[in-house]
Amino acid sequence: MSPSDPVQPDQPIKTLPLVFDEPRGRKKPPRHLADLDEAGRKALLEEMGLPGFRAKQLSMHYFGRLADDPATMTDLPATQRDELVAALLPALMTPLRTMEADKGTTRKTLWKLFDGALVESVLMRYPDRATVCVSSQAGCGMACPFCATGQGGLQRNMSTAEIVEQVVAGARSMARGEVPGGPGRVSNVVFMGMGEPLANYKAVIGAVRRLVDPSPAGLGMSARGITVSTVGLVPRIRQLTEEGIPVTLALSLHAPDDELRNELVPINTRFSVAETVEAAWNYAATTKRRVSIEYAMMRGINDQAERADLLGDVLSSYGDWGWVHVNLIPLNPTPGSKWTASDPKDEREFVRRLEAKGIPTTVRDTRGREIDGACGQLAATEA
Ligand code: SAH
Repeated sequence: MSPSDPVQPDQPIKTLPLVFDEPRGRKKPPRHLADLDEAGRKALLEEMGLPGFRAKQLSMHYFGRLADDPATMTDLPATQRDELVAALLPALMTPLRTMEADKGTTRKTLWKLFDGALVESVLMRYPDRATVCVSSQAGCGMACPFCATGQGGLQRNMSTAEIVEQVVAGARSMARGEVPGGPGRVSNVVFMGMGEPLANYKAVIGAVRRLVDPSPAGLGMSARGITVSTVGLVPRIRQLTEEGIPVTLALSLHAPDDELRNELVPINTRFSVAETVEAAWNYAATTKRRVSIEYAMMRGINDQAERADLLGDVLSSYGDWGWVHVNLIPLNPTPGSKWTASDPKDEREFVRRLEAKGIPTTVRDTRGREIDGACGQLAATEA
């Protein structure tokens, strides 16, 4: 299956009104060792007439040492270094701008990819963990009207290495002590930047594998620290369920009823609330990982008491064995949007009603608001 083919052969998605596929005939991003597993890296060097065992050294520099300067790779023979680095460690992206908030513990970077496409990632350090929020596509084809990225459409899928590089860049910043709190590590990755990760399934799964592969084949992270957030591409959720990597699944529900969700998350016209929640429940039942329901609170749109009750009923109809929790996100209004965040009083009532139905509920903190922390806003300003 190619990354631009979002459909499982046995579950055809027919007429799709949304832009799923990236334009064809584009130049591919540079191939990088993070695109390949260990065997693939070795085979590639050998095909090029280079010694295969050098692949492991290059992986050690990239994933183990987090090196970005070939001059420090002194175990590679000087005569071959440039060729080896060009083969497996090409530059993938350049930082255009970094913005800081929360006394430097939130750092958002705007990246320019090889073809000029702009994406962003955010590093957030907390007392007990550090999270990188990554983009998986340049732009997004899902067209959610409250989301900045949704307004510009899909430019292209990112490659596995382009996704991984955002995490490696965050890991470098942490390792080099660039974030207040002393040198540290990245413990968590959330696919909540630009793009719909499950519409770029193959590259995203490749990236997840590189993150969890033990060092130096990968970054050696725990799958439990990785969250894949989706609008709810049901066939892809089913595929992820069978993948055997226990990542956390986050479902961007935003409304408990089809009428409103059709408007807020247009893919709902293809996959109803019932089908989508059922697929999420099945993910939890199979993987034993608690699913997170994302719900951006929009004043007067989806924050009414009746909707809290309905959401509680929809979720608790699958049982109360702790398969789900709700994460309320205060809406970060995008420029020109008619929507705004809920009244704190309505937010509290919403939480109270969900909890009364036995659904654990948290309210997301609003880190990085002043640096356009919400999905796609920085890239949108720049473009
Ligand atoms: N395509 C994936 C990842 C997108 S971003 C998904 O939809 O899940 C991660 C979360 O941020 C999603 O729940 C998305 O709906 C939400 N989001 C997007 N724009 C937002 C905004 N302006 N304010 C608050 N949350 C927003």
